[in-house]
Amino acid sequence: MINFNGTYVLEGSISPLKLVEKYGCPLYVYESEVIKRQYDRLINAFKVPDLKINYAAKALNNINILRYMFSLGAGLDTVSIQEVQIGLKAGFLPENIMYTPNCVSIEEIGQAVHLGVRINIDNISILEQFGTLYPDYPVCIRINPHIMAGGNSKISTGHIDSKFGISFHQMPLIHRIIKATGLHVDGVHMHTGSDILDIDVFLQGTEILFQVAKEFENLSYIDFGSGFKVPYKEEDIETDIEELGEKITNRFMDFCTEYGRNLTLMFEPGKFLVSEAGTFLVKVNVVKQTTSTVFAGVDSGLNHLIRPMLYDAYHKIVNISNTEGRYRFYTIVGYICETDTFGVNRRLHEISEGDILAFYNAGAYCYTMSSNYNSRYRPAEVFIFNGIDYLIRQRETLEDLLNGQVEIENLKPMSHPAYS
Ligand SMILES: *Cc1c(COP(=O)(O)O)cnc(C)c1O
Repeated sequence: MINFNGTYVLEGSISPLKLVEKYGCPLYVYESEVIKRQYDRLINAFKVPDLKINYAAKALNNINILRYMFSLGAGLDTVSIQEVQIGLKAGFLPENIMYTPNCVSIEEIGQAVHLGVRINIDNISILEQFGTLYPDYPVCIRINPHIMAGGNSKISTGHIDSKFGISFHQMPLIHRIIKATGLHVDGVHMHTGSDILDIDVFLQGTEILFQVAKEFENLSYIDFGSGFKVPYKEEDIETDIEELGEKITNRFMDFCTEYGRNLTLMFEPGKFLVSEAGTFLVKVNVVKQTTSTVFAGVDSGLNHLIRPMLYDAYHKIVNISNTEGRYRFYTIVGYICETDTFGVNRRLHEISEGDILAFYNAGAYCYTMSSNYNSRYRPAEVFIFNGIDYLIRQRETLEDLLNGQVEIENLKPMSHPAYS
């Protein structure tokens, strides 16, 4: 998280401007210190005997970030078979990988069985097929508790019309399948979506999951998913993890007593662990004044950071090349041939062409959602690990853009009449 001490600095007193000189622009930078701070906050908040934090790989999936999570003691939460494979390659043990797919085929789930990871099933049809094919393989069941959490309907996953999870009203059906197939359920799960603003709403969801859990005799864990909110603006409220931790810890311990056994408490945060650890650095190509607006056009766009356009995400933006000039209002836009506005009417120190701007909260769902739209290269990634900067992904080249394309011989220019 880029800090201001007269100039902007990152972990290890590293200057982001120096990183741009060294690695070029645009550039994603992540700080290990911030990830560790957030991980420790979770560990300290939930004081149960068995806690497992499974990092949601989809937020930021560079193999070095995964390995860093592993070194902290985290497991991995995955949503595709490819994420499972990358997780195994990073060094996670199969039992520390949770596979929580949605609407994938039974064949893909079969591959996960083969790899030996934990499997979380989120619909009745797959549960039935799974029970028939793999009756001896323990599974977790994703329950939809029908609570409305989350700041935006696209990231809210627990409400009644959501495509995620099996409704807790369908418990009789779940039991019938288990009885018919002999399936062993070893965990129950919920994930209500991003941005928990109201702790009480989240606690209502956990009560529903406890009710469900009581109906299974041989559980070894309960997974409450994620949705922990981090601040994007100064005045933003974040999920009060310490308060949530205290409430859930007490209730969970009581539940274990009632259940007659100690269970593992699991969470699977993505954003909470990596959002603030990331900074995105871009260069201003053009300052353009229209009758109503001053635009700052940067060397990036929705191809590198789509969250503002996709779900109105707010990213704080500062001018790190000019820390003292007067403030002016700018609308920060990208270079893509489509409206790609990063921020409207932002107050920044006066911008000159060539200045470097830094975007906050660029760790989660930023690089992983990037694309090559407009035939642009995706940015390089740098990880500051124990105060030293490492290049962890090269900037792309033209070969990367053409990679995988298969050329038809008869369409090659040399075979065109115009060339003969
Ligand atoms: C995306 C996802 C998460 C992580 O959500 P965050 O809001 O980034 O913490 C956790 N669990 C599941 C099943 C997910 O799909």
